[in-house]
Amino acid sequence: MDEKMESLRIEILRSLPSVEELFQKVSAQKGGDLPGRAILEAVREVLNEARNAVMGSLEEELENFPRSRVEWLQRLSSQLSKDIYWGPRPLINATGVIVHTNLGRSLLAPQALKALVKVASHYCDLEFDIREGKRGSRQSHIEGLLRRLTGAEAAAVVNNNAAAVLLSLSALARGKEVVVSRGELVEIGGSFRMPEVMAQSGAQLVEVGTTNKTRPSDYERAISDRTALILKVHTSNYRIVGFTQEVSLEELVRIGRKASIPVMYDLGSGCLVDLKSYVDDREPTVQEALGKGVDIVTFSGDKLLGGPQAGIILGRKELVELIKAHPLARAVRIDKLTLAAMVGTLELYWDPQKAMSSIPTLRMILANSKELKSKAKALARSILKEAPWIQASVREDCSRVGGGAMPLAKLPTWVVALKTIGMGANELANYLRRWDPPIVARISQDEVILDVRTMEREEIPTVVRALSASRSR
Ligand SMILES: *Cc1c(COP(=O)(O)O)cnc(C)c1O
Repeated sequence: MDEKMESLRIEILRSLPSVEELFQKVSAQKGGDLPGRAILEAVREVLNEARNAVMGSLEEELENFPRSRVEWLQRLSSQLSKDIYWGPRPLINATGVIVHTNLGRSLLAPQALKALVKVASHYCDLEFDIREGKRGSRQSHIEGLLRRLTGAEAAAVVNNNAAAVLLSLSALARGKEVVVSRGELVEIGGSFRMPEVMAQSGAQLVEVGTTNKTRPSDYERAISDRTALILKVHTSNYRIVGFTQEVSLEELVRIGRKASIPVMYDLGSGCLVDLKSYVDDREPTVQEALGKGVDIVTFSGDKLLGGPQAGIILGRKELVELIKAHPLARAVRIDKLTLAAMVGTLELYWDPQKAMSSIPTLRMILANSKELKSKAKALARSILKEAPWIQASVREDCSRVGGGAMPLAKLPTWVVALKTIGMGANELANYLRRWDPPIVARISQDEVILDVRTMEREEIPTVVRALSASRSR
């Protein structure tokens, strides 16, 4: 028995490819974009691991190893694609979730990308006043643009919206009280919890109302001479429905004015164009919030705005000046590449139609049903041709905006649902995820769903190639 096991072990070890063989296969697959040394090191490591795994395994586990060179090469080279690329790696988003936080949120418009590339390899006037020949402010490049586009008195841009909220609270309410409704004590993306951010800023949270109902009188009663701010938080990733009441922005502003206390609104997404005629769940626009007299608004640059990761602070000049002058501002400042991409994105908003057609996030939200159906049909047709053993049905479904924006919005879309004998939905989804480039789909009722809303037409051939190779896997 032992002897038989040992001879099996030897057979498996003998079928392992050489460093050279695996190196050749991987290099041929990955093309010339990686240095040979990176591939070689990874190849050596993966072969060592495989050898050790075979040596250290029990009899029954030996059955799981390949016994031919071809099989080994297949298995090890797919394992290697993970080790060779250090990421972030581009992938195909077939989930239909547009602002997908795990997949990098918004894609940049070509104009934003161009602006970024230009400053990346040239010196620039980041903090230099060209006319005066002396030190300038990086905020000056964007402040005027934001003021004109939104009607705000003043503006500042930082690393992300979490930083914008933390910085604003630190500058405006440290050591003082901030009044917030219990219905708005949100957690966003697992690590951003309003009560904890508040604690970090040194402000003291005063909760008012209940989870489902907060009335004007709740705020009025909570205001004291220690109150520095009234804070409203957009409940980005959920809605409280049913027996509910929240205090409107107008009402909050009225309460704030009466007590001479500024009102801050963490908008979260920060949409600059009104999507109400296209989407069934509405976000207040930035201009609307400012128009109602809110003193400070904060929002993300890479959610509905469709730019790079950033946090934007708009509002009354004297408050924004306090925020800019706070020591934390230096720690959360925006870098030059992001700044350039942000300006490149914002400039598109001079013409809202242009913004909606060239900013990928908005374009995907507004994609029309006819166009989506035709894309889904094209995908299904190619699958039928190249991978006829896979059942690909075109049908209607719903996409999501994602990124904690418009949580209730269902965007009617067209998807291709995949089913195949011999491979379960999980297995097929895993296989697609390990393709190069990875293809990320969603699974629903034992089918793999490809939502074409977040896919470009140019990506269809890649998906079809992956599926057609799934048989020889
Ligand atoms: C997303 C969000 C944040 C955090 O913004 P980041 O840009 O991810 O830092 C804060 N507040 C609200 C209401 C949000 O929706």
